[in-house]
Amino acid sequence: MNDKNINDILEQVVKNVIEQLGCENTQTTSKVTSCESIPIELSARHAHLSEADALELFGHPLTPVRELSQPSQFLCEERVRLIGPKGVMDNVAVLGPARASSQIEMSKTDARTLGIDAPVRQSGDISGTPGIILASQTGIVGLEEGVIVAARHIHMSPEDAKRFGLADQDKVSVHLDTERPITLNGVLIRVDEAFKLAMHIDPDEGNCAGWNKSVSGRIEGC
Ligand SMILES: [Zn+2]
Repeated sequence: MNDKNINDILEQVVKNVIEQLGCENTQTTSKVTSCESIPIELSARHAHLSEADALELFGHPLTPVRELSQPSQFLCEERVRLIGPKGVMDNVAVLGPARASSQIEMSKTDARTLGIDAPVRQSGDISGTPGIILASQTGIVGLEEGVIVAARHIHMSPEDAKRFGLADQDKVSVHLDTERPITLNGVLIRVDEAFKLAMHIDPDEGNCAGWNKSVSGRIEGC
């Protein structure tokens, strides 16, 4: 039996074990070609609203107050109340611009507090997700779906992706060298002309890792 046969068998055994454990092999196998550090930003609970839902809630379109780190994204003056079966959260940030469908992003801890079984999904992938009630001072909207826990991800421009040797929808592991060092697996690569290099995690992940604003990450395998 030559080395190639042994490697093939090993690969198959590992694949079988992973399947039996019910785990996904989420890592990209290709070599990462840059070890440059990636800024890590914490994404707290927020709402993206459709134009129709914004009008229903506020009686007018969304009002930008501050630019966010990703180009053309902004924080709005408007805020919403989230109402779930088990709890309520007030003063929740609304991010613009308006989207085709409303989407509420929260941590697993938030979801538990509200009594909503929110799945981990990529932004925009809301089909079959739980709904929620949104309220403002003047309006109320019931969403039939749209509540997600955003999958940890890295925004990259096509130039960044080229440098790292990665492509849209690849998954990588990212090491955070903090006072509570951790490696986050299954980090989704998202590539778009409009994106600026940054990794987004939620407060559960941030607290777990001992995150602060100066923390950066390094993709494993470089
Ligand atoms: Zn993001």
